[in-house]
Amino acid sequence: MRYRSTRGGSSVSFSEAVAQGLAPDGGLFLPEEFPDLTLHLEAWADLDYPSLCTEFFRHFATDLSTDDLENCVHSAYAKFSNKHTAPLHELSKHWKCLELFHGPTLAFKDFALQLLGNLYEVQIAREGKALCVLGATSGDTGAAAISGLLGKKGVTVFILYPKGKVSPLQEMQMTCTGAENVFPIAIEGTFDDAQRTVKELFADLEFRASVDLSAVNSINLARILAQSVYYLYAWLKLPSEERESTTFVVPTGNFGNVFAGWLLTKMGINISEFRVATNQNDVLHRLFKSGEYSLGEVKPSLAPSMDIQVASNFERLLYYFLNGDALRVSDVMKKFREDGKYSFDHFDISGFSSVSASDKEIPSLIQFVKQEYDYLVDPHTACAFKDLDPEKKAVILATAHPAKFPAVYQHAGMEIPISSSLEALKSREPCSYEVSFDASSVRSFILEKISGK
Ligand SMILES: *Cc1c(COP(=O)(O)O)cnc(C)c1O
Repeated sequence: MRYRSTRGGSSVSFSEAVAQGLAPDGGLFLPEEFPDLTLHLEAWADLDYPSLCTEFFRHFATDLSTDDLENCVHSAYAKFSNKHTAPLHELSKHWKCLELFHGPTLAFKDFALQLLGNLYEVQIAREGKALCVLGATSGDTGAAAISGLLGKKGVTVFILYPKGKVSPLQEMQMTCTGAENVFPIAIEGTFDDAQRTVKELFADLEFRASVDLSAVNSINLARILAQSVYYLYAWLKLPSEERESTTFVVPTGNFGNVFAGWLLTKMGINISEFRVATNQNDVLHRLFKSGEYSLGEVKPSLAPSMDIQVASNFERLLYYFLNGDALRVSDVMKKFREDGKYSFDHFDISGFSSVSASDKEIPSLIQFVKQEYDYLVDPHTACAFKDLDPEKKAVILATAHPAKFPAVYQHAGMEIPISSSLEALKSREPCSYEVSFDASSVRSFILEKISGK
C-alpha cells in the first residue's frame, strides 16, 4: 500500500508517511487505494481488540513485518485498564456509549498514540536514525503523545500547549512525567496559534530534515487509521440488523476522530450517519449548515480539547469531496489561508449531520445523562447528547474520562469524579518551558535542546 498527499506529489510507503506526519507540500497523507473489508467481516467479528487492530493494519502497514506489527499493537493495548479495550456501555434500548477512555491518559487519543510510539521505536531501530517529535495540543493530544513516547530511545518530544487553557490535570499529565526526552512548552496564545507554528516549522524543509521532524497531531495518518479500528470494533459488536441504521455521534475538534470513522465507508463498511458534535467553537457545524468554512475566534470552553477553529483533517474530507482533485484542494486551502474563509456552492457530503453545544448547555447535558441513564459523561462527550433523537439508534463516542475535568462537576454542584492514576500525579514536581510561540523561537529552542543531548 502506498500513500500520497492531498495536494498531490509522489507516493511514499507506510513507514515514510508515519515518520513524516505532514507531507512535504503541506498536505496530508492518504492511502492510494482502499481494501474491501467486507471480505473479512465474518472472520473478524469475534476478534479481541488487539487482534482486530493487527488484522486491519496488515492492509495498511504493508512494509512492516507481521511480527513487528503484532508486537507494536499488542504492547500498545496491554496498557489499557479495561479488558475489552473499548467497551460498549448500554445506556438505553437505542443508545450505546463507546468508552474510549481506558488508556493511560484517560482519553481516546491513547488509542493512536500508544501505537504510534511503538511504530516510531521500530522505525528507529530499523534505520538507526533519531526522531524529533513536534506537536501542538489543546490538552489531551499532548498528554497522550508524551505517555506514548515517554523514555523511548531516540525520540525527543516537543509539545506546544496554550498556557492556562488546558485543564490543570491535563497539564500535570504533560509536565509531571519526569522523562528526560520530553519538553512541554507553554505558549501565550491559543491552540490554533500553536498548531500554526507547528505547521510553519514543518514547512521549513531544511529544518525539518536537519532534525528529522515527525508529527503526532492527527495530521499523522497512523493516528487516523488506529482510530478507524474502534469504529469497526463497535460496529462488529452491534446486532447485524442494527449496523446500517446506527448513527455514530462524535465529539469533534480537529475532525480527526470522525474522519477516521468515515474512512471505513471507503472500505465497504456501511455506516449511515456520522453526527459531528462541537462545542461553542463551531466551525464545522457552520460548514455543514451553510457550506462556508470560515475562521472564527477561538473561545475557551468547558470542553477544551475541542477549542479549535481550524480543523486540520477537514482537508482530508475535502480531498474526497473534490473527487481526489489535488490541485483544487491546494487551491481551496490557499484561498482559505489568504481570506480566512471559503464558500462552497454546495457542501453536501451525504452521511453527516452536526450540532453545537454552548458552555451553558454542557453542564445541563451532563446532568441530563446522569439523571436519565445513571451515567457520568465528560464535558466533551456531553456535547454529543445535544438534540439527539432518543428513538434513533446511536453509538456515542465517550472521548474522555470525566475525572480529567473536575471543575465542571464542582461548578454544577455534582459529585466530583476521581481517578487514581490522576491523583498519583499530584505529588509530582511539574516541569515545563515557556517559549514565545513564533516559529523562530520554537525552532531555536528545539535546536538547543537537541544539540545538548
Ligand atoms: C481531542 C479530543 C476531541 C476532539 O477530537 P478531534 O479528533 O480533534 O476531532 C474530543 N474530545 C476529547 C476528550 C479530546 O481529547
